[in-house]
Amino acid sequence: MKRHKKGVAVLGATGSIGRQTLEVVAAHRESYEVTALTAGRDVEGLARLVREFRPTFAVIADESAYGRLKSLLAGEPTKILAGSEGLTAVAATPETDVVVAAVVGFAGLASTLAALNAAKTVALANKESLVAGGGLVARALKTPGARLLPVDSEHSALFQCLVGESPERVEKLILTASGGPFRGKNRKELENVTPQQALKHPNWSMGAKITIDSATLMNKALEIIEAQRLFSVEPEKISVVVHPQSIVHSCVEFCDGSVKAQMGLPDMRLPIAYALAYPERISLPFPRYDFFSQANLTFEPPDRETFRSLDFAYEALKREGNVPCALNAANEAAVSLFLEGKISFLDIFEAVERAVTRTSFVAEPEYADLIETDREARTRVVEWAENKTAVGVG
Ligand code: NAD
Ligand code: MG
Repeated sequence: MKRHKKGVAVLGATGSIGRQTLEVVAAHRESYEVTALTAGRDVEGLARLVREFRPTFAVIADESAYGRLKSLLAGEPTKILAGSEGLTAVAATPETDVVVAAVVGFAGLASTLAALNAAKTVALANKESLVAGGGLVARALKTPGARLLPVDSEHSALFQCLVGESPERVEKLILTASGGPFRGKNRKELENVTPQQALKHPNWSMGAKITIDSATLMNKALEIIEAQRLFSVEPEKISVVVHPQSIVHSCVEFCDGSVKAQMGLPDMRLPIAYALAYPERISLPFPRYDFFSQANLTFEPPDRETFRSLDFAYEALKREGNVPCALNAANEAAVSLFLEGKISFLDIFEAVERAVTRTSFVAEPEYADLIETDREARTRVVEWAENKTAVGVG
């Protein structure tokens, strides 16, 4: 019997993207039912969402929190699982049609692969898994029925601009970037910036990791690699334009010089809804862009000398193999250290560059190689930071 509602599993449900996904689902309960909700550690947040959306499964990745979730949800019909196995299991259940991959970081790779291998549609927010595991994701995408749809606003914009176009007529993918909180600042001015300053994004309210990535432009660097993987274009056809208002979400330039752009308010519920409903569109009751109240849209080139992340991305795409994985891992480690107050903002660039150039190269990494690359690159960052502190103290 044909079901009328799409089954949606939200991995990383308690995060910024996860919660916004559930807002879209709540606005369209006639079309979607939640099959699974997962969280890393936030047991209370997950329990609250489970009571509201009544999924078949709930997963807490942190196994030590299993007992607590179980007691919080005593009497609820939802089946409770824990650990990364729980995550990969619910990414593949038969009642799930769309898996929203909204875990943050490399930790999301296994569940993204599990969903694709189970022929699901993956609505991908977790860009780190695609950056690190590009080859494996491409292989998993050969599973008949498997599909990868972007949630990242820039890539959703590109995807929307490409509807009805043939790939060979595409000359350039133009990713827009807000420039983050430190746009216009030079290295000297960035020497002493604090995590609190870096966490103040001008346009978007997001998880901590991606907010720091927006301040270093590493988010855009990861997005260059993400775009290369999603749309199979040569890296030199991908460029970045700084657009501080975040209204134009990205553009495609075609062989005749025509440029298509996708616009809207900076609101992730829009690209999330597009991925959930594709190939349809669903109506959303949220605020709209108004041409006259926000009339000035400006564009400028990125400052690649201060924010070296973009160069790291092009270099990683040139070397390929496990280098994008090392880049992502080194960045995840460096961002954590910066948030903990252990390294400075500018150290992030140095730590990442050093770790990436030193991590052992693997030309065609399998899953186990990526796990090892991820571990090695993180260790290199942590050791570099420890040495630096030791030298500083001595
Ligand atoms: P977030 O930190 O707000 O949420 C992350 C979610 O993942 C939470 O539910 C958390 O519990 C879970 N999680 C964390 N570590 C985990 C682990 N080791 N195992 C399992 N689950 C874990 O992050 P976010 O801002 O929602 O971002 C999620 C992803 O979406 C990231 O990859 C980010 O780059 C991407 N993204 C976010 C935005 C945005 O506006 N927030 C926009 C574009 C792309
Ligand atoms: Mg983005």
